Amino acid sequence: MVDTDVLIIGGGTVGSVVARGLLKHTSLSVTLIEANSYSHTPHHPGFDDRVIALSKRTVEELTDLGVKASSVGSVPIHHIQVSDKGAAGLCRLNAQDYQTDSFGEVVSLRRLGDALQLHDNTARFTLHCPAKVDQTSRTQNGVSVTLDNGTMITAKLLVLADGGRSFVHQQLGFERTVDDYQQTAIVVNALTAQPHHHRAYERFTHHGPVAFLPFNPESADNTANAHGFSVVWTLPPAMAENMMSATDKAFIRELQQAFGWRQGAITQVGKRFSYPLSLQQTKQVFTHRAVVCGNAAQMLHPIAGQGFNLGLRDAVSLVSCLKAKKDPGAFSVLSAYQQQRSKDKQTTISLTDGLVRLFSNDMPGLIAVRNVGLMAMDNCAYLKQQFVRQATGFARNG
Ligand SMILES: Cc1cc2nc3c(=O)[nH]c(=O)nc-3n(C[C@H](O)[C@H](O)[C@H](O)COP(=O)(O)OP(=O)(O)OC[C@H]3O[C@@H](n4cnc5c(N)ncnc54)[C@H](O)[C@@H]3O)c2cc1C
Repeated sequence: MVDTDVLIIGGGTVGSVVARGLLKHTSLSVTLIEANSYSHTPHHPGFDDRVIALSKRTVEELTDLGVKASSVGSVPIHHIQVSDKGAAGLCRLNAQDYQTDSFGEVVSLRRLGDALQLHDNTARFTLHCPAKVDQTSRTQNGVSVTLDNGTMITAKLLVLADGGRSFVHQQLGFERTVDDYQQTAIVVNALTAQPHHHRAYERFTHHGPVAFLPFNPESADNTANAHGFSVVWTLPPAMAENMMSATDKAFIRELQQAFGWRQGAITQVGKRFSYPLSLQQTKQVFTHRAVVCGNAAQMLHPIAGQGFNLGLRDAVSLVSCLKAKKDPGAFSVLSAYQQQRSKDKQTTISLTDGLVRLFSNDMPGLIAVRNVGLMAMDNCAYLKQQFVRQATGFARNG
């Protein structure tokens, strides 16, 4: 006799999506353990001040689970510009050329988190929060976890959605590789002289990429005529440290130099946050009666805005594998999940990692190659179509 069918460790974005999906699409009982209290959302590691881009597919999957991005103040992306600083390469994409209203939506992670949280215990759902999983053990037919308050819970399947700093995965025999990019992302809100008109920018610079997403978390006005952007600026750690402590004036000057003048002058910036960047991935997605999802399975560079989008596809695929299954932890179920996820993960991780390496390198030959690449892409409908499929989450591998 077990306490619950599925026990999820981690109630960040991905764990919450798994819980919502299981409750909506299966009859399994679900227990969610989250270490940090949701009532302290400003300091919650899963729902901090970041602003993230949701692909079109992610927006649709969230709507299916009862969370409409537009209800949490999202801003649609109608245009994307990709460019290489100091070179001619430029690629422009307009959503209407692809018979879609937008490529995706930009949303505040904190507001998305508020909407995703499940608070109320029901006959099929139990929340332990704040409570941290300390110990895990397994038998042939189940798993048991011990919480830091001494509670013990048994389940048929354990889902690890406990993020990139998970230590539980080691206890369960998951092996993780870590490649340090030697880069730090600075996240900051900025106002520009010209309105964003729903345009997102990715600009590759000598030191690393800088992304401008149309969104102003501090304003209720996020219409096309708003002037706010959420900026993710990637730099080598020492430069990032300097930029973190620079005055606003010095910071704006350097950011303007990196980004250029496509939006006119950068007039104001907000508080800065920094994130060290690495590629982390587990070698396998399941071990006996345990499976990994989201950042616990892979943590990506934010260059292509794919981390949550990929984690959500993990969650959706896991839910579909558990539909109508009597034993959610059975080997056949978990190996089906592994098979379903393998191509999408490989493609998304390789593309993201490839972009980082291609565009963070100043070898003259490579500069030429990527400029030709950007120009070719701008002129080639097929290449653009492939890029759009991947960016919107509808590539034929997920
Ligand atoms: C600068 C930056 C920009 C980004 N931009 C984008 C973007 O534009 N688009 C995109 O798709 N992605 C983006 N991402 C990635 C995205 O933010 C993450 O992939 C996503 O938030 C990860 O969610 P998660 O639920 O897997 O992990 P987390 O958010 O890390 O959640 C893990 C949860 O598990 C809990 N936990 C941990 N250990 C335990 C334990 N032992 N017991 C109980 N609970 C535990 C933690 O408290 C936490 O709530 C960006 C990331 C960064 C850093």
